[in-house]
Parts: sequence; C-alpha cells; structure tokens
Amino acid sequence: MSLTDTYNLSNGIKIPKIAFGTWQTPDGDIAYQSVKTALELGYRHIDTAQAYGNENSIGQAIKDTNISRDKLFITTKLWNQVIDFPSAQRAIDESLMRLKCDTIDLLLIHWPNPLATRPNFAERNSEVWRAMEEAVTAGKVSSLGVSNFQTHHLDALFKTATIKPVVNQIYCNPSDQQEEIVTYNNMHNLLTEAYSPLGTGEIFKIRALNTIAQKYDKTVAQVVLRWHLQKGYLPLPKSVTASRIKENTEIFDFNLSDGDMTFINQLHGALLPHKFPDNVQF
Ligand code: NDP
Repeated sequence: MSLTDTYNLSNGIKIPKIAFGTWQTPDGDIAYQSVKTALELGYRHIDTAQAYGNENSIGQAIKDTNISRDKLFITTKLWNQVIDFPSAQRAIDESLMRLKCDTIDLLLIHWPNPLATRPNFAERNSEVWRAMEEAVTAGKVSSLGVSNFQTHHLDALFKTATIKPVVNQIYCNPSDQQEEIVTYNNMHNLLTEAYSPLGTGEIFKIRALNTIAQKYDKTVAQVVLRWHLQKGYLPLPKSVTASRIKENTEIFDFNLSDGDMTFINQLHGALLPHKFPDNVQF
C-alpha cells in the first residue's frame, strides 16, 4: 500500500486513500509551501474548500509542481452562502478559476442547512445539488458528495438527486467515531472521509495511544492514521510542518493487530465531545 493507493467510489472513479487537509492553512506562502511539500512527498489528493480561502495558492502549488493533472485528485466544497442554483453555478466557476484547473474531481456541499436562520434544508440542498449535477454534465466536476450530513439530510437528498453522492466527509477520530452516520454511509455506498482525523491535534492528549505507538515503533499520528485506513475510511491529515507532513505518509509499512484495533475502537469518548460551530443546526 502507498499514498497512490485508491478506493473505488460507487460511480467507478478511483480516489486516493489519503488526502492532504488544508483547513486553517492561510492563503499565500503557507498554503503554497505546504501543498507543494505534500505533493513532492507523494500525496495525490488535496482537500480544500471555498471557506478555507486558500484555493488560489493551492491551485498555484498544483500548477508549479507539474504533476500531470490526471494523477491528482482535488476536492473542494461549496460554502454556506451557496443556497440556490445561481449561487452554486457561480461558486463552482469561481473555484475552478482559483484552482486554475478545468475539472474539480470531487465537489462537496460543506454543511447542510448550515445556519439556524435558514430553514428548509431539503429544498436548499436539492437546488444546490441540481447545479452540481449540471456541472458534472458540463465536465466541470467529476464526482459529487456531501460533508457533515446526518442521516435525515441524506434521506432527503437521495429523494431528488439524479447523480448520487459518493462520499460523506465527517468529523471522525478514535474519540468520536460517529457510529450511526458511518453505518448509514456504508449502507448507501458512501465512502466515509474522516476529517480532523487527529482531532485537530487533540488526539495527542489520549495517553493510551502512546503505548500502542511504542509497540510498533511509530508515532501516535501514524497509529491513528493507520487505524482510519484499517477501518476503511479516507483520512485527511493537515499539517503545515514539513516533518509532520512526511511523518503522516509513513503509515504503509505496518499493520495494527485486531487486538489493537479493538483497543482503539474502545477509546470512543476519551476526549470531551467535539463542539460544532454555534450557527450549525442539525
Ligand atoms: P487534523 O486532525 O488533521 O490535525 C491537524 C493538527 O494536528 C494541526 O495542529 C497539526 O499541526 C497537527 N499535526 C498534524 N500532524 C501531526 C503529527 N504527525 N504530529 C503532531 N501533530 C500533528 O486537523 P484538521 O481539523 O485540520 O482536519 C484535517 C482536514 O480535514 C482539514 O485540514 C480539512 O481539509 C478537513 N476538514 C473538513 C471539515 C469539514 O467541515 N468538512 C472540518 C474540519 C476539517 P501543524 O499544522 O502545526 O503541523
């Protein structure tokens, strides 16, 4: 197994099993350098979003690295002000322009019904989805997916979607394993993408993980990322530190035993529950 290994999405498209995360990676030098480093170290899947404000530098880094476009997988996400057909059409074209590419490999709705002041999530998601489908037909986007969707959001979307979502990107790590939505994803052929796979750095507070890491002569980050892969998830580790970007790729030369997988599975709830943004309404 290596960084170029892929999962098969339900639409037949292949997706690299690890993505390089870029939330809280400021546009400009930091985004440019970290993505360039990641690509040079072998990452082939970059996860960004309109809300991260860094599509521009990421597009530049991708361009300058000179890796052929068909070897790369780029994901971006429509942000919360995209709530109808025209705003979605516009936002897709703007992302393409900032990313400096002809096609987005995977386009996600970032949050369902994101703001408490905006009800009718089913209608809004369905209308935005129609513009996303049109972008697929026009060749601007290859695959469609969602993020932060709970089962009722997906139930509603499945009723109107002509092109089915292929992934659900959710908060997921050993302390917060999202069993209900992961089960739903599996039942509906949605690949689970695990965002904040290291709990935005919080996972390092779980001391029990040190024992497992020592046993394999690996770091805690490597053990946790390996756990994600063995669960069948697609983790999106973020780092702006070259040595960590590299460290997070060195997870293909060991296997966690069934016993250690079970041990990590039992760490659910080890940290305080994740706090989602106040303006998000599930
Ligand atoms: P992660 O869980 O990937 O953790 C990142 C943090 O851990 C950073 O502080 C980083 O530090 C540190 N870190 C990374 N690798 C190591 C290591 N080997 N050893 C020690 N520390 C390490 O955080 P995110 O919350 O950023 O999630 C990852 C990605 O998921 C995002 O970047 C984004 O692409 C996606 N995401 C999607 C969301 C959604 O709503 N769809 C929401 C949140 C995230 P440093 O950078 O300083 O090196």
